[in-house]
Amino acid sequence: MANVTTENNPLLNPFTLKDHAVPFDLIKTEHFMPALEVALQQARKNIADIKLQKQITFENTILALESASEKADTISSIYFNLFSAEANEAHQALAQQISPMLSAFSSDVSLDAELFYRIKFVYDHLDKLNLNPEQSRLTEKMYLDFARNGAQLAPEKKERLRVVDQELSILGPQFAENTLKATNAFELWIDDKKDLAGLPEGAIEAAAQAAIQKGKRSQWLFTLNVPSLMPFLMYGDNVTLREKLWRATSSKSFGGEFDNQGIIQKMVELRYERSQLLGYNTYADYVLEERMAKSTETVFNFLKRLIEPSKKAAEKDLQELKDFRLQLESNSEIKPWDFAYYSEKLKEKKYAFNDEELRPYFKLENVVEGVFEHARRLFGLTFKPVSDLPVYHPDVKTFEVYDQSTNDYVGLFYMDFFPRETKKGGAWMTNYREQGTWFGRVQRPHVSIVCNFTKPTPTKPSLLTYDEVRTLFHEFGHAMHGLLSKVNYRSLAGTNVYWDFVELPSQIMENWAGEKEGLDLFARHYETNEPIPAELVQKIKISAKFQAGWMSLRQLSFAWLDMKWHTANPKEIASVDQFEHEATAPTRLIPKEPGTNQSCSFGHIFGGGYAAGYYSYKWAEVLDADAFEYFKEQGLFNSEVAAKFKNSILSKGGTKHPMDLYKEFRGREPDPNSLLRRDGLI
Ligand SMILES: [Zn+2]
Repeated sequence: MANVTTENNPLLNPFTLKDHAVPFDLIKTEHFMPALEVALQQARKNIADIKLQKQITFENTILALESASEKADTISSIYFNLFSAEANEAHQALAQQISPMLSAFSSDVSLDAELFYRIKFVYDHLDKLNLNPEQSRLTEKMYLDFARNGAQLAPEKKERLRVVDQELSILGPQFAENTLKATNAFELWIDDKKDLAGLPEGAIEAAAQAAIQKGKRSQWLFTLNVPSLMPFLMYGDNVTLREKLWRATSSKSFGGEFDNQGIIQKMVELRYERSQLLGYNTYADYVLEERMAKSTETVFNFLKRLIEPSKKAAEKDLQELKDFRLQLESNSEIKPWDFAYYSEKLKEKKYAFNDEELRPYFKLENVVEGVFEHARRLFGLTFKPVSDLPVYHPDVKTFEVYDQSTNDYVGLFYMDFFPRETKKGGAWMTNYREQGTWFGRVQRPHVSIVCNFTKPTPTKPSLLTYDEVRTLFHEFGHAMHGLLSKVNYRSLAGTNVYWDFVELPSQIMENWAGEKEGLDLFARHYETNEPIPAELVQKIKISAKFQAGWMSLRQLSFAWLDMKWHTANPKEIASVDQFEHEATAPTRLIPKEPGTNQSCSFGHIFGGGYAAGYYSYKWAEVLDADAFEYFKEQGLFNSEVAAKFKNSILSKGGTKHPMDLYKEFRGREPDPNSLLRRDGLI
């Protein structure tokens, strides 16, 4: 390893690229630890300086603390973004050092009595300080962050909290690393062409390509990455292989070398203990204090209210599928690995339509252009490709974003679309630099979206499924929230809103991809350039309600399971599997298969930030259904409604309570029935 000094560490030197973009080409794994050590030292010094000030003001306390760890925050955000998007073993392993180091730092800060005294002083004098509303909000948020991290506890409890947070900081990344390793460990090799029966041509070609990449010709490789897995589950006639794949994906990190059961037990215990230390009943109570929903009771009632109609509809969906198979093959049994397969066939029969027919109209480049065109029509943004900016992988594309009418620079935008072994599954949006004050001035954001889409092959470009199109619109909606942010302080910028509000900007974008007016902007055949036929659009619309009850119940079951994990007393949890078995009983229509387990790969709640927060997807669906009804009433690209959405919601970040922002936009509170209406469930 080369000798790393402060002088030649690119993470510590000023970023000299345009708009201080991250110099990915210079950064190596061995730079992170030494850079963080220096940056944290600097942050500690900045914080010590705050405590030396004679007078206590907003500027020398709240604002100074907001800015105290800028360099360290930049470095750790680069580290963790790469941890998810491009991490080899060495990069992954480093989390076991970096996470506890950051946790120790944040414990030192939030448990510092002298520092908290100063924050509380500003907070207690808010009415006398003549601050603007955003400054007041920042002060309140900081005060609450400290209180919720133990600032007011007795010394011995503070010590215990520090230990708990330290342990939790290691367990989350361990969970994620296990899931990624379990995903990569599974390979389904096929050498007999017969076993490919039923599969679409594109899936077969991609599997052949995957095999070639591993040095094998005339074979086919299927993996647990969604673009490889889903076509097999939907179309593969070979039931044995379908079952094998389904079992593999449904038992990820449940037992074996990358088992997550112990980690879950430990995390649930520690989260519970943490909440008790801070005076809350359960971890969910702790989390929900800072949510629109406010209490566990509200969340459970909200879920129950949706479970009832969803379950009724889902039962009908299942019965319809059983009847369909009975007609087809004189057998009415539906096993979990049959569900997608027969559903696809039923959908084809009902609507004369199959998902694969859509792919030719969804060439990735066209969809990207389409989503940019939406951003232009709705929010006046333009995207200029940049080719000379360093990236962390050749697949990553970069754009400068501008305001069309003022020519103002809006931010930098990265897109990273294809699966690889160094990338987590799923799709997400993230920031390399949040909008807000950095190094003394308000700066524009660097936003990124990361997905796992169908790759191009030697003969075909990347042709997306309709689901993937929606995912792109979804993540792009988050990106809009990040890019259009117009606030002063990064803690309140962009997606830094209450968690059950954060999916509104993303989910609402998906709606345009379901409307003719939206699809007409980009859905053209990749070979003939023919626009998507109107009847196919009509089929998308009608089939959107296909199995809506089933899909809804599935999401609700994840939300319910999450709430159960985080309201339980860990002493009463005998085993992870038994607990899950009971927690999913109210939402289960097909018996749980022994040997499979959802929780062990439930990255949202054990490897990500959605603990006691998975319900947010459904919660925000109510918001997005209600908000999109407004666009439907006034016109999908109505400039006034779009401007209201931009100015009242997207640009405001967390500077106000989300309900206030929503009411500013809509003129009233959201109507809970809008979602059930949209799904055809009432
Ligand atoms: Zn999202």
